[in-house]
Amino acid sequence: MHNIENYYEVLECPETATLEELKKKYQTLVKQHHPDKGSKSYERFVLLDKAYKTLKDEKSRKDYDAELLAQTCNEESVIYASLNKKDINLNSDGIFGFTCRCGGEIPITEEHLCEDECIVECSECSNAILIK
Ligand SMILES: [Zn+2]
Repeated sequence: MHNIENYYEVLECPETATLEELKKKYQTLVKQHHPDKGSKSYERFVLLDKAYKTLKDEKSRKDYDAELLAQTCNEESVIYASLNKKDINLNSDGIFGFTCRCGGEIPITEEHLCEDECIVECSECSNAILIK
C-alpha cells in the first residue's frame, strides 16, 4: 500500500493550523532546507513546497484532508504499550517524545493529556500507544 505523505507533519503543524501558521512554518523550514545546503535538503525542499502548495489552497486542502482521513481509517494501528499520564513529563516545547519500538518517535503533546484516554500513533510505522 502506498502511503500518502502527511503534509502537516512535513510542515510540522497540527492539522488544525491556520493558513497563517502554515505559511510561517513553511517559510522557516524552507530557509533551513534550502537546496544550496546539499542534495538531501533538496528533496526536503521539494516536499515542503508540495505540502505548502497543497495546503494553502482551501479546496485542495479539503481534498487532501479527506484523502488523509481515508488513509488513517484504513490503516490498522497496533497498540502495543500503554502509558500513564502521570509518567509523562512534557519538555519545554510541550512535547514528550516516546520512542516507538521501530525507533521512531511518538510525539505526545498536552492535547493528548486533556482527554480521558487517547491513542497516539507512531509517524514511522503502524504502532500506537494508549495514554490513560
Ligand atoms: Zn514506530
